[in-house]
Amino acid sequence: MRMFSIILTILITSIMANYYCEYCGQRFNSVQSMTGMPCHRHPNGPNKGKHKPYEGGEKSRYTCKYCGQQFSTIQQMAGMPCRRHPDGPNKGKHAPML
Ligand SMILES: [Zn+2]
Ligand SMILES: [Zn+2]
Repeated sequence: MRMFSIILTILITSIMANYYCEYCGQRFNSVQSMTGMPCHRHPNGPNKGKHKPYEGGEKSRYTCKYCGQQFSTIQQMAGMPCRRHPDGPNKGKHAPML
């Protein structure tokens, strides 16, 4: 019986997908809950817009689409200014490639 509940937990965890915000890297378990909440790292300003779902899959390393630098989490990446940002050097944060 105990074994069964462990297997069930593993099963549920693997079915439940994780969604990450492209701007702040916060994790959500549904797109609905993500896009309903303001993002503190929105490019228009803190809480000026909603979280944006990152459309790529979960990876062990994330590559910035502007400069190619690699990070282990989107959160880490989105917290640092990018030297090759299209708005100008360090004018914006790194953004994950899909
Ligand atoms: Zn966000
Ligand atoms: Zn970058």
